[in-house]
Amino acid sequence: MPRTVFHAEMDKLPEEQIVKTHNRWHPDLPFVETFKPGESFRVECYDWTGGQIQNDDCADDIRDVDLSKVHYLSGPFGIEGAKPGDLLVVNINDIGSKEDSEWGFTGIFAHENGGGFLDEHFPAARKACWDFEGIYASSRHIPGVRFPGTIHPGLIGTLPSADLLKTWNDREKKLFDTNPSRTPPLCTLPDGMAGTTTALMGGLTGADAKIAGAEAARTVPGREHGGNCDIKNLSRGSKVFFPVYVDGAGLSMGDIHWSQGDGEITFCGAIEMAGWIDISVDIIKGGMEMYGVTNPIFQTSPIDANYSEYLVFEGISVDEHNGEQHYLDATIAYRRACLNAVEYLKKFGYSGEQAYMILGTAPVEGRVAGIVDIPNACCTVSIPTAIFDFDINPNASGPTQSIPSGVDVAECT
Ligand code: ZN
Repeated sequence: MPRTVFHAEMDKLPEEQIVKTHNRWHPDLPFVETFKPGESFRVECYDWTGGQIQNDDCADDIRDVDLSKVHYLSGPFGIEGAKPGDLLVVNINDIGSKEDSEWGFTGIFAHENGGGFLDEHFPAARKACWDFEGIYASSRHIPGVRFPGTIHPGLIGTLPSADLLKTWNDREKKLFDTNPSRTPPLCTLPDGMAGTTTALMGGLTGADAKIAGAEAARTVPGREHGGNCDIKNLSRGSKVFFPVYVDGAGLSMGDIHWSQGDGEITFCGAIEMAGWIDISVDIIKGGMEMYGVTNPIFQTSPIDANYSEYLVFEGISVDEHNGEQHYLDATIAYRRACLNAVEYLKKFGYSGEQAYMILGTAPVEGRVAGIVDIPNACCTVSIPTAIFDFDINPNASGPTQSIPSGVDVAECT
């Protein structure tokens, strides 16, 4: 077992642990430790909310979650010899849950606090908790489904340079200013622009932490350095090539997911968990230019969940509210595909919220099927049929299995 170089102390608040987490991106974040190319190490991670969510039957913690503090990240770690323009090679050798935290959660965020992909249809906070049994997960809140984990870090990336940070802040501010009062917001800006002070800056302290924290980027979106891309296939056994923007690269990670459907559509939509990641690192000198890399690229794992039969739902770029035709809009097409899948699953007795969470958590494939057939983009959502303990395929006699009544995802009090 590789040496654990970052501990997530589950009995403490992240703010109180010895080696501090960070929840912003900034080039001045000091490295926790520096490794040579070829070295392996184990990194423990809090769940992305830093322990704000409990394993119980009440969704008040989802409704009230403090999103100004997320994501709690482990790192950054330096890699000797890495220079801007190189590629940092990260082998994700293994990932697991912590012995004292063998469970996960999925949330539907309230429209007023975070929202989600279908928040116009599901505006209220809900929660489902999942138990792990070996490689499998099941939920007391969502009966009839069980599937193996394609476990992965939702968030992993390198530190931005000062120039890149400025580019992010400028372009996101420009978008934010087009509709500053929108709920949920168009994007989340650094504390200095938003007037709040919830930046955790790892090993930076005092005035340095305040100054850097005011301009440090939020961890919400994925960007050129990787970050919160929420790609379910970044799983154990995969190999990721990250652009390097600062000396030493500065690799950080967190937001581990037991499993996730493509799009992580409920926003807190994967099975979120605390855990550990074993990685080894290497460098390709000058790799960004050599391979034309701007955003990370990765090789997939040889052991992801392997389903052969799917039921596939199509969606097109026509607004569900007013029937308005949109031009090749893949976001609307994907939303329609998801809504079509939700309506279908409701016929088997699931609530809309249960169906929404199945799409966010199970190894569901989302695809852009057609993006050229004007005016409709066509997106598909493919559900592996074997995750259900009953047959969900259509047939002449209609849907027969009914989910036990009274069993639903957790609501707020
Ligand atoms: Zn997550």
